[in-house]
Amino acid sequence: MVKNQIVTITIEDIGNDGEGIGKYEGYTLFVKGALPQDVVKVKVLKAKKTYGYAKVEELISPSPDRVTPKCPVTGRCGGCQLQHYSYARQLQYKADKVRNCLFRIGGIPEERLNMITEPVIGMEIPFYYRNKAQYPVGTDKEGNPVMGFYAGHSHHIIDCTDCAIQEPVNAMILPTIKQFVRERKISAYNEETGKGLLRHVLTRVGFHTKEVMVCLIINGRKFPGADELALRVAKVVEEFRKEPETGAGTYRLKSFCLNINTKKTNVILGQEILPVYGDNYITDYIGNIKYQISPLSFYQVNPKQTVKLYEKALEYAELSGNETVWDLYCGIGTISLFLAQKAKRVYGVEIVPQAIEDAKVNSRINNIANAEFFTGAAEDVMPAKYKESNGTMKADVICVDPPRKGCEESLLDTVVAMEPKRIVYVSCDPATLARDVKYLEEKGYELTKVCPVDQFGHTGHVETVAKLCKTDF
Ligand code: SAH
Repeated sequence: MVKNQIVTITIEDIGNDGEGIGKYEGYTLFVKGALPQDVVKVKVLKAKKTYGYAKVEELISPSPDRVTPKCPVTGRCGGCQLQHYSYARQLQYKADKVRNCLFRIGGIPEERLNMITEPVIGMEIPFYYRNKAQYPVGTDKEGNPVMGFYAGHSHHIIDCTDCAIQEPVNAMILPTIKQFVRERKISAYNEETGKGLLRHVLTRVGFHTKEVMVCLIINGRKFPGADELALRVAKVVEEFRKEPETGAGTYRLKSFCLNINTKKTNVILGQEILPVYGDNYITDYIGNIKYQISPLSFYQVNPKQTVKLYEKALEYAELSGNETVWDLYCGIGTISLFLAQKAKRVYGVEIVPQAIEDAKVNSRINNIANAEFFTGAAEDVMPAKYKESNGTMKADVICVDPPRKGCEESLLDTVVAMEPKRIVYVSCDPATLARDVKYLEEKGYELTKVCPVDQFGHTGHVETVAKLCKTDF
């Protein structure tokens, strides 16, 4: 196979990032945007020894699972990878991904997987689900402002202010800001030169409260006309009513603020926040727990599915009210406070100090007195505390919700030493989940339940809740 060669193939499988996989005379080709059962004429972009990358030249015969995407920038925008795949198939793909990882990497036999795997929990409406958006701002060739999302694996901005997976109120806010920027000739930040004012627009919406936050991330300390823009945004937000498809409700601008980021960096947010209008936070609920969310807080982006995820975690924790629970990688204490309602005592550990501050505020506003939080890396805090206690520190249930790279072995060793009856593992990457499950199985725990949950429809990501039980208990 050589570069620029054109071949016709049938797509047989789908890869980790949602790309189609097909073979030409035994040679594997990865084809972006192609789906299983598509027959496609493709052009080879890059040819390695045994595999290569190709792009679709012509869709000769479409897969029966192909659907028309809702969003006009699908395929160009890097946000979604699977909008052209039927939602039922997307869910199947995610369930298979979890299963394959646990089988191949985790070494869990198929018969056991058949018994312990629960059906994937999908969304009722797989659109308009995200409560947070960060739109990069730039300039097109004619010098007009563009706002939208990055194209896949690049920093090229695809202009799109009406994203099909975001809260629909954004479709009112973004054009208002864009119009203002155009009128006042406010410069967009340029990543190469480090010049220009407006870098990103961050929006957050309380799913239950309908409180809206708009935060402009700027390369400076002042945004000309910020007060006036806030009033304009407040007006369009209040005029907006949700479409019947997504449920009724009235929105209100609760927070309009500036975030200062004058560094030449890929990191979106700076540390300092300046208020313009309203408070510096919005409030929302997960179940009956109230959370205060600032522009800097980590907060789950799909509130409807988060409840289902946490309820599954709660179910797997099997709490009766007498348990000591540790929630590692606790963020702003979301899972900790959810579990605290049913446990004797909950301890949370999280590396970001600001998140721990939020967790403490959240305990207070919910009158939860049996939760305590510690700042630091779980793999440092836990072994140190365990050592300090001379091995007397025990737990009934330990919950972990690590980032994609999973848990360090030193942490898992401490978890095992604390002899919890159950470990609840919430994972955003099935490959590292499987690796850690294998390690825990070797140390006397058994994987007894697995449930994939779709938190990110139309993307290749899948969240999983897993339950491990101590075998000699
Ligand atoms: N359980 C929370 C957050 C999960 S996201 C929720 O459901 O909302 C993972 C969290 O792990 C993030 O808040 C991140 O800041 C934190 N984190 C990353 N590395 C960590 C480490 N080594 N130790 C502790 N926390 C860490």
